[in-house]
Amino acid sequence: MPHTIRDVQVTLTAPMGRNLVIVKVLTDEPELYGLGCATFTQRYLPVRSAVEDYLKPLLIGRDVARIEDLHRLMSVNSYWRGGPVLNNAISGVDMALWDIKGKLAMMPLHDLLGGKVREAAAVYQHADGRDLKELQDHVQAQLDQGMSHVRIRFGGGSEQTRASGEAGGNAYGGPGLGVHHPPEGALEGSYYDPQTYTRTTVEALAHVRSHFGGDIELLHDVHERLTPAQAIQFAKDLEPFRLFFLEDPFSPEDLGWYEHLRAASTTPIAASELFTGPNEWLPLISKRLIDFVRMHISDMGGLTPAKKVATIAEAFGVRTAWHGPGDCSPIGHAVNLHLNLSTLNFGVHELMPFDDVIREVFPGCPQFRDGYLYPNTKPGHGIDFNEDLAAKYPCDPKTIMWTQARLPDGSLARP
Ligand code: MG
Repeated sequence: MPHTIRDVQVTLTAPMGRNLVIVKVLTDEPELYGLGCATFTQRYLPVRSAVEDYLKPLLIGRDVARIEDLHRLMSVNSYWRGGPVLNNAISGVDMALWDIKGKLAMMPLHDLLGGKVREAAAVYQHADGRDLKELQDHVQAQLDQGMSHVRIRFGGGSEQTRASGEAGGNAYGGPGLGVHHPPEGALEGSYYDPQTYTRTTVEALAHVRSHFGGDIELLHDVHERLTPAQAIQFAKDLEPFRLFFLEDPFSPEDLGWYEHLRAASTTPIAASELFTGPNEWLPLISKRLIDFVRMHISDMGGLTPAKKVATIAEAFGVRTAWHGPGDCSPIGHAVNLHLNLSTLNFGVHELMPFDDVIREVFPGCPQFRDGYLYPNTKPGHGIDFNEDLAAKYPCDPKTIMWTQARLPDGSLARP
């Protein structure tokens, strides 16, 4: 007898200070359930509505085994499809169905996906600094933890921005760096100067490469904060420092510039974390314009589409580096990790350190040891969710500031 979906539940929680959306799919077998990440941290309430008000009535009573069929059903049932709200809602259910399938098969997810091709995933974290000495100390701290990959960010940056790990803020040539002279009446925001940002970042990467030598992998994220011409010049200027990758040099509105960048520079490129539409990634992969795909798995609709992208990317020599900061729940990180362990063309895993609170709310979190992330090998994702404890960490509907980046003349930039 097939197992059927009995209920679909959504929990909003913020134990890491980031608003997370967790989906639980319950079955006709009381002990059998699955968990998924549906975290669109900036707009979490409509995701809950999409799951509870629309997907749940659609899914009750359906066979949990038919993941491909259910994914297509959830994707096209609204006729208009895609976007971060609907994709995250679908992802929450999709990941939960894979969790259930793993539990039924009594296999960890990476076994279902073809089996391990490596024992653990190499990870990276961010090292930043307001001056070269601080940056150097922070890189050394990463190396002391066994890291082989380090993402470099250099510049101003408030303690709050830096502590939260949020990209942006004013850490891109912000106050304290360069000349800022906005016109009278300029609006509030997170000001940054592209010229200062690129110049100081080149100097910082030169210093790190010179001090630590050629054996560590260096990453940097532009966060789409430059004009296309500035980004191409920046990629050329960084060539001597042999980056592992330069991330998101262009905004999603400027994808046509990747061909020009490829022709001009040998710096490896990672891109696509903001993609939420069907097959936006395909031209970048099939034309070999990027070296790493970087989608956020819940924002692209879950594991089902992500594993297809990984397979297509392998055929074109493109590797995976799925987006995985603090607005990816530990369940999302576990799914990323299982996929990474079973993907030949995996590149690197973005590490989110889990503290004791997180490990209590999400028992069975992946384990970090000496530069690598190891999965829990229980069947399915290997991770559970303590809903009673999660209820003690309510979400915070605060207005998001870091996406309010402004250029020196006061105009609003892309974040
Ligand atoms: Mg990024």
